[in-house]
Amino acid sequence: MPTEQTGYDPSLGRKFIFVTGGVMSGLGKGITAASTGRLLANAGFDVTAVKIDPYLNVDAGTMNPYQHGEVYVLKDGGEVDLDLGNYERFLGSDMTSDHNITTGKTYQHVIEKERAGDYLGKTVQVIPHITDDIKRRIREAAEGTDVCLVEIGGTVGDIEGMPYLEALRQFAHEEDDEDILFTHVTLVPYSKNGEQKTKPTQHSVKELRSIGLQPDILVGRCDNELDPETKEKIALFCDVPTEAVFSNPDVEDIYHVPLTVEDEGLDQYVMERLGLAEEALPDADRETRWRDLVTRERSGEVDIALVGKYDLEDAYMSVHEALKHAGLEHGVDVNVVWVDADEADGDHRERLESADGVVVPGGFGSRGTEGKVEAVRYARENDVPFLGLCLGFQMAVVEHARNVLGWEGADSAEFEPETPYPVIDLLPEQHEEEDMGGTMRLGAHETDIEGGTLAAQLYGGTSCTERHRHRYEVNPNYIEDLSADGLTFSGTAGPRMEILERDDHPYFIGTQFHPEFRSRPDRASPPFVGLLDAVLDGTDPAGDATPHTGDRDDEEVTV
Ligand code: GLN
Repeated sequence: MPTEQTGYDPSLGRKFIFVTGGVMSGLGKGITAASTGRLLANAGFDVTAVKIDPYLNVDAGTMNPYQHGEVYVLKDGGEVDLDLGNYERFLGSDMTSDHNITTGKTYQHVIEKERAGDYLGKTVQVIPHITDDIKRRIREAAEGTDVCLVEIGGTVGDIEGMPYLEALRQFAHEEDDEDILFTHVTLVPYSKNGEQKTKPTQHSVKELRSIGLQPDILVGRCDNELDPETKEKIALFCDVPTEAVFSNPDVEDIYHVPLTVEDEGLDQYVMERLGLAEEALPDADRETRWRDLVTRERSGEVDIALVGKYDLEDAYMSVHEALKHAGLEHGVDVNVVWVDADEADGDHRERLESADGVVVPGGFGSRGTEGKVEAVRYARENDVPFLGLCLGFQMAVVEHARNVLGWEGADSAEFEPETPYPVIDLLPEQHEEEDMGGTMRLGAHETDIEGGTLAAQLYGGTSCTERHRHRYEVNPNYIEDLSADGLTFSGTAGPRMEILERDDHPYFIGTQFHPEFRSRPDRASPPFVGLLDAVLDGTDPAGDATPHTGDRDDEEVTV
């Protein structure tokens, strides 16, 4: 039998699936890998993933959302590449910062060891010191699991990726053949006369082989399924059996990829090659909640305005996904209506007013904050269901102070240091830490929820654990005065205000944390489910009176 979530069965042995990409980046090799992982998990295996980002940044914390999309936050506070979010969502397992290997992290560690004299005077080199460190990190991240997917960012041939491919070559040499599988994902384009072209794949495999790596499996990304002749041609020129060539055609929604991969038989082939087929759960016992949810008939659609400042879906990826999950839960499609917080008039105002609900997401920097305050005002005054996330929560406090309590000029000290009412500010102890650099509150922290509130109803209890990424807090000097005229802080963590709600509104909730990072397709996040509940206003086609909070073990607080 496969191992339980809790334990590692050494008799089974750890298996590694390395995933490289060819021809061009952005092919969705992460989704292909994660989908394979999902199916292995459905078959009863404990699956984890490692994403390798060959850039020099130590982590994604400082990266611009325009270039790299959102910064995804893990329970241990790791600020990582958004692909880790896809792995968590697809695999249903939580990861830590150790699951995102970057060149910055690896070099920093090796150089620190060199400075400490740990290499005893040897010349410190990419091979073996950097490659050894890469192999160590992969093995450590895989510990205690049955299968570890390892995705190498970028495309084969990139200079930055070379040390990783060399590390993988050594890794394969050190482990049993049966425990390692190389999957290469490439693009199969169409020629003008409608023919599927295999030459780019051939070239990319040639490149891989010149580094000493022979792929075991080839996955062709294509508009449609690969023709049998295309598969045969790829098999012949790339030296793999024809049954090891798989299609990954475009689908309307990434959550359908596991279904396509299953129809293609990729998971079965992987299990056979890794010697896992005998251990897999029989078909009848496999988890089917995913398939049931994503294929469930939709009985309607709702429009949710997302009021942000980056007109780029990836910059708010987890919010988009969390809305989608809440939609799956209710059996409706969610259309996200983009509202630019910087263009609060005209078209954007019309879009805001056309939506059924409003989400104001997180953010840093003052651009767009006034538009966000206006969006909060609109939702409050017009009884439109509202969810504010992190900065969205803070802007709801500012809006309440200014427009309900009449505190003119109230603001967050982050944007207006001279404000007469700094309702959002650093805590006194943070001011001291500020001089020393690190004040960001990151990762999973517990919130105490007051009984009898909307928050308690949503979370089905008096506590929740959610992930954070912020510096500023509701100013403790104003909490009492702010808690008036409709507004209540229903969730707290010591001196910090975590959740706010209004009792003069059908659904108005703000969270200092980011619930979107723990939302999963088969375990939607309570504040998002509640938002759709309010939008559907009892007409919920799925008939769920309360949000689905089941199977939501609160994650351990690791920071
Ligand atoms: N800029 C705000 C803060 O640092 C909000 C951060 C966020 O939305 N992630 O507190």
